Amino acid sequence: MDIKKAAVIGAGTMGNGIAHVMCQHGLQVTLIDIKDEFVQRGLTTIRKNMERELKKEKITAAHMEESLGRITASTDLEAVKNVDFIVEAATENEALKLELFQKLDTLAGENVILATNTSSISITKIAAVTKRSDKVIGMHFMNPVPMMKLVEVIRGLQTSDETTETVVALAKILGKTPVEVNDYLGFIANRILMPMINEAIYALMEGVATKEAIDEIMKLGMAHPMGPLTLADLIGLDTCLSIMEVLHQGLGDSKYRPCPLLKKMVDAGYLGRKTGRGFYQY
Ligand code: NAD
Repeated sequence: MDIKKAAVIGAGTMGNGIAHVMCQHGLQVTLIDIKDEFVQRGLTTIRKNMERELKKEKITAAHMEESLGRITASTDLEAVKNVDFIVEAATENEALKLELFQKLDTLAGENVILATNTSSISITKIAAVTKRSDKVIGMHFMNPVPMMKLVEVIRGLQTSDETTETVVALAKILGKTPVEVNDYLGFIANRILMPMINEAIYALMEGVATKEAIDEIMKLGMAHPMGPLTLADLIGLDTCLSIMEVLHQGLGDSKYRPCPLLKKMVDAGYLGRKTGRGFYQY
């Protein structure tokens, strides 16, 4: 399938990153969020991030303006009616995504693939609320999207080979490396990453070391580019908590119990970079 026009649902951390990469690779992008201020914030972030790429001479000024010219902002979900691919990157909340996919299913053209960037919610379950379950798939970009190569391509039980091939091809067009996995709680990336982050928060709560020490040990000792607490702030602590809750409830093993300190931080609204405060101040 030839994909020229895409809609990205959700203009937050991931949605603006996905729109950034798509428009740079020639796709017309409609970026949709629930409030105009959220889409505008997304657009501002995209421009700021492209200016950084311009400074580093990764792109030219002309390429930047051309790319930005391919993005249209909207707060109306009806705007998906004339696109040929949809990727959803709205808040990590199962009820919200199920409702959204029901709506997208009624609005989008019948051959349009509905991809989700969910970190942990069952692709099979999301697919089941649509009448095109073979065309629903996980397209899990990593944060920050413009920099990270991996796209975890997650097949739900109903996802067809054709849908998978299209998404694998699209990921390559976007300059990414797709890796296929099956739908299972947390897939691969978060099944392994989140328990590590959660454990780092337990170690902090239990006073084993300072946040700086925990991050330094994992950076220097394990050659991670950043420590787990810095990474949690980058991902968003609300997102980390909801993924741990999905793992805990779904797998029923107490080893996935979300750390009480993580819950407390989320209750306080300390969500990481996006709110200016998480384990660190921004
Ligand atoms: P975010 O909170 O930064 O942004 C979510 C955006 O979705 C918000 O702007 C919100 O207003 C919008 N939204 C909520 N309901 C909507 C609706 N009905 N229609 C349109 N927009 C709506 O969250 P994020 O970090 O960008 O995460 C988005 C998705 O990507 C989640 O499923 C998350 O699990 C996944 N993800 C996140 C990361 C990460 O590092 N943050 C990495 C990979 C995947």
